[in-house]
Amino acid sequence: MAEMPFVDTDIEDKFIMHTTSEITIKKKRKRTTGKEIEEDSERKKKKKKQYQPNYFISLPITNPEITRSIQAVQDAVIQKDQRFSKAMVHSGSLHVTMFVMHLSNKEEISIAVGALSDSKDFVEDLLKGKTVDLSFQGIDHFKNEVGFVKLAENDHTAILREIAETMKKIFQEKGILAGEERAFKPHLTFMKLSKSTPLRKQVKKIDPSLYEDFKSHYFGNEILHRLDLCSMLKKKQPNGYYYCESSIVFGEKHAAEPDDAELVSLSKRLVENAVLKAVQQYLEETQNKTRQTDGSPVKTEEAASGSKNESDNDNSK
Ligand code: AMP
Repeated sequence: MAEMPFVDTDIEDKFIMHTTSEITIKKKRKRTTGKEIEEDSERKKKKKKQYQPNYFISLPITNPEITRSIQAVQDAVIQKDQRFSKAMVHSGSLHVTMFVMHLSNKEEISIAVGALSDSKDFVEDLLKGKTVDLSFQGIDHFKNEVGFVKLAENDHTAILREIAETMKKIFQEKGILAGEERAFKPHLTFMKLSKSTPLRKQVKKIDPSLYEDFKSHYFGNEILHRLDLCSMLKKKQPNGYYYCESSIVFGEKHAAEPDDAELVSLSKRLVENAVLKAVQQYLEETQNKTRQTDGSPVKTEEAASGSKNESDNDNSK
């Protein structure tokens, strides 16, 4: 699977997304035979595979200070144990996962793109003009299978949590199977065994002593600037980052949308031009009238501009 061009092995094997029907069945069933249990477990396995997350909302890491520090810890781990080179997350794809989802077809992708776009106003309302400044410090792990950099717990991470929850609801209200059972724990993964199937078979745990020198290391800060709807499976971009279906950007005006100052200056220029043109027209008309009454020849606009061009010696046309 690792060699397939459109497949990324780091598909989220540990995410569990329950459908409503699955939960209802769980509650109703009291007594089951051995065969039923077997069938049930087969059915659950199938369903789990069917609804395995294949998309996620990503907060990309863009601060080179963080990228450099992550590379330093990755190099340190590899130096101690070469086998883990296959477990490292590429510096171009470093991100914080906000939540995962399953999108089955083009229609669901387009619904998710719409949900992301709808989220922008809600997130901006939550932000109230403030920036979310995330501080990355120290290392932790999930079951010794995933190594990640921690986010300092403060007001900024609290807002990030609120953003993730609000957005997840927006996606769910549109019928997207989004989120997981476990609570959101913001983290920045730098290595995980699931990146390589052979490695996973070979090594069961990442020994924390491999990254102990960075246990309390400060990696840098990242300001929330963009959120992307990314595919886990589509071929990554040349820079190593995930394939994005769509993005929302915060704290920056859209290139096509001028700000208030630009609009005021533009309307001023339009008014000035209109006044200038009207005055010019009025002067020309009164000049022509004067010449007509005193017997001098009428000077047309073309004749006037022609004489100007000649005098300027402008041969551009
Ligand atoms: P990510 O940083 O999103 O690439 O996640 C890396 C791995 O961490 C994935 O395999 C997830 O299943 C796992 N993971 C994410 N959040 C948690 C959590 N709260 N508890 C345990 N494992 C998690």
